[in-house]
Amino acid sequence: MELWYTEFQTKNLGLTTRIKETLFAGKSKFQEVAVVESLEFGRMLVLDGVFQTSVFDEFIYHEMIAHVPLFSHPNPRKVLIIGGGDGGTVREVVKHQSIEKAEMVEIDGMVVDVCKKYLPEISIALNGNHPKLELKIGDGIKHMQQAENLYDVIIVDCSDPIGPGEGLFTRAFYKDVYKALKPDGLFVQQTESPFYHQELVKRLHQDISSLFPIIRLYLASIPLYPGGLHCFTIGSKQYDPTEADVSRIPATFGTRYHNVNIQKSCFALPNFVQELIK
Ligand code: SAM
Repeated sequence: MELWYTEFQTKNLGLTTRIKETLFAGKSKFQEVAVVESLEFGRMLVLDGVFQTSVFDEFIYHEMIAHVPLFSHPNPRKVLIIGGGDGGTVREVVKHQSIEKAEMVEIDGMVVDVCKKYLPEISIALNGNHPKLELKIGDGIKHMQQAENLYDVIIVDCSDPIGPGEGLFTRAFYKDVYKALKPDGLFVQQTESPFYHQELVKRLHQDISSLFPIIRLYLASIPLYPGGLHCFTIGSKQYDPTEADVSRIPATFGTRYHNVNIQKSCFALPNFVQELIK
């Protein structure tokens, strides 16, 4: 018997992939957690029925959410990741020599445990007790309320704006992010699909630009996510990501998507996206 798994991306659209087996299915205090082995995407993490990451294309999302903001800051030393329980983002963050400490606040311990067990190539930095990593299991919203003038870069590697991630897409949260950053700090958040989440992209852009003097949206092509094109948004207090010194980007990171030209060109937006955030 063939097994197929569908993520309903909108009310009228789904992404369906054939799967070999379900490796894990459980329910945490926050969400339904599953790992499935698919034929096209390899192993995939699924939260509340939504595909989060896959072995096939995870490198695109994780390289782009980590390296673009970290190369937009001239000397990132202290970094905070909110969410990111699969470990892919921190794997990329700790490649940066300048990083002294990477804190990660993930709400769901089950996500971390399951990814350590079933997705070792993504969670490698979580498995190795990395000396620069401090992992806390807790709510990123609460963590941010208490933080002040602490971080050079904050990476909001969150799930969709439903369930525990909902409050991470609000102006109140961005106000706390602003407060938690150092005077020249910047933050990035994954901000969903420019095709299917247009109202959200618009609202977030307004909220972030009402607080941060510099705001830049950039794009990456990610097969797993709705529409295949994904938005990321940087809010920055001082540095303009489009003017970053790209000569600092080493050829030794072993990245498969990110490089000097991607760092420069990812901020180039199609007209319909420019229209959205005008
Ligand atoms: N790449 C993914 C995507 O965009 O689909 C996101 C990956 S990562 C698995 C998202 C993580 O954010 C999840 O593990 C989830 O538990 C975590 N998360 C959601 N709300 C959170 C909160 N309030 N504080 C900390 N972590 C949160």
